Parts: sequence; structure tokens; C-alpha cells
Amino acid sequence: MPDRSETDTTTEAVQAPPAVRVRGLWKRFGEQVAVSGVDLDLPAGRFVGLVGPNGAGKTTTLSMVTGLLRPDLGKIEIGGHDVWTDPVAVKARIGVLPEGLRLFERLSGRELLAYNGRLRGIPGAETDKRAAQLLDVLDLTGAQHKLVVDYSTGMRKKIGLAAALLHNPEVLFLDEPFEGVDPVSAQAIRGVLERYTRSGATVVFSSHVMELVESLCDWVAVMAAGRIKAQGPLAEVRGAAPSLQQAFLDLVGARAADGADGLDWLGGGR
Ligand code: ATP
Repeated sequence: MPDRSETDTTTEAVQAPPAVRVRGLWKRFGEQVAVSGVDLDLPAGRFVGLVGPNGAGKTTTLSMVTGLLRPDLGKIEIGGHDVWTDPVAVKARIGVLPEGLRLFERLSGRELLAYNGRLRGIPGAETDKRAAQLLDVLDLTGAQHKLVVDYSTGMRKKIGLAAALLHNPEVLFLDEPFEGVDPVSAQAIRGVLERYTRSGATVVFSSHVMELVESLCDWVAVMAAGRIKAQGPLAEVRGAAPSLQQAFLDLVGARAADGADGLDWLGGGR
């Protein structure tokens, strides 16, 4: 007979819900079907990359998964809680850095974090401690008393990330977190995210920069034309292709390299 603790662990592992479970997700904007029947199973504790070409439906999917946009059809669970019928439980468990992030512009970075701490019900002293540490690792301490309206694009991403992490969520969703971010700041963000996933939390981020996804993620979902073309561990999705970039081009159907034939006027006649 197996050892009881062993049995329990196995049972627990089998029963643990995935970080994110999506079934039959659809969204249409007028005639445009943006998301058509997406199923996703993203395991907990992974660094997940959602990749796809422009217009693939990544932002629409992430907006629905994080409760910002109501799906036409489909079911979404985070840690076993339904996003649309149990929103309070879900919002306590997730952090979101959306595309086109809107922030309270007339607060300083520090005030923004203090405000977020209050919203999340974190005791003041604990918010102060966490805010100081996040500002430090994201290299924002020097700008903490500046108004957010005066922040650069990269600084806005960083303060948005700090606000999304303040309550130590189980799952963090990031839409293009590295866009407009300089290499030094990108390294700081990477460091924070790697540390965060090492603690068992899950990061889901969208990107079209394959090298970045390949170097950061251990789980990938490839999306094109509103559908999931492949999902699974990075090595499995990459398969026999020499790089994720090539696997991606094969999956989404790359246009021929000479597809710019129609531009025979471009660069000519000089
Ligand atoms: P990108 O990488 O360029 O940001 P994406 O994969 O995030 O693209 P989405 O922004 O989800 O793609 O868009 C998917 C499709 O849905 C596109 O064809 C887009 O034009 C359309 N779409 C998205 N939002 C809306 C909206 N609010 N109204 C109408 N169409 C929309």
C-alpha cells in the first residue's frame, strides 16, 4: 500500500486546478470575429507567453480572461474560480498590466502604490514596505514623488507593474510588458518576474518578440486569426524547428520572403 503522504501529494497534484482554464471563448466586434473558440490550459507556476501576429486576438483574449471585456461565449476559470460569476475571488488573485494602461495621472508613483494598497486592503505599513522594495528593484525610487503624468513610457510600464504586483497575486497578466522599455529597465522587469515565478506564481504575457518569449517562457500558446494554433511546453511547441521564430512562422503561415514584389517602385530610380 502506498505511503499516505505520497498518495495525498499525488491526489493534490492531480486535483490542483490550472492557473488559467478557458473553454470555447468567442468574441465578435460587428462583422469581425476577434476570438473564435479558444481553449487554454495554463499550468500554475509557469512563465507563459501568448504569441501571435498583429490582430491575432491576443489583447481581446487577455481582456476577457482578466474580466475587462465580456465574452460572447465561453467559460474562464482562474485557480478554479469563474471570472464572470465569481469576480471578487478572481480579482483578489490576479494582477493585470493591460495594454494602453490608464493610471491616475495626478498622483505620484508612490501615492499610486499607496492608493492601490488601500484598495487591496493591505495594512499601511506593509504597503509602505512593499512599495519601497518594488520602487527600488524597478529603479523608480528617484522618481517616486514625480507625478505619473510626467513619467516616460517605460516608467509607466514599471509603475503599472509595481501596482499589479503589490498584493502578491497568484497570476499576473501582462500585455506587451516590454514595449517601449529600455534594455536596463527590461532587465529589471525580467528579474522581478523571474523571482516571482520561482515562488510558484504564474505569469502570462503577450508579445510578438519571439527571442524574448524563447528566453523567458517555459510554456507557450500560439494564436493566429482568433484561434490557438499550438500550446504547451516551449520545447514541444518549438518541435524540430531551429527556433521559436521559425516554428511560429510555420504555424501562422508566413508570407513568402519575396512578398514585397509589388513594391518595385520602392528604392528605385535613384
Ligand atoms: P496586436 O499584436 O497588433 O496588438 P492582437 O493580437 O492583440 O494584436 P487584438 O487587439 O485582440 O489583436 O485584435 C483582434 C482583432 O479584433 C483585430 O482584427 C482587431 O481589429 C479587432 N478588434 C479588437 N478590438 C476591437 C474593437 N474594440 N472594435 C472592433 N474591432 C476590434
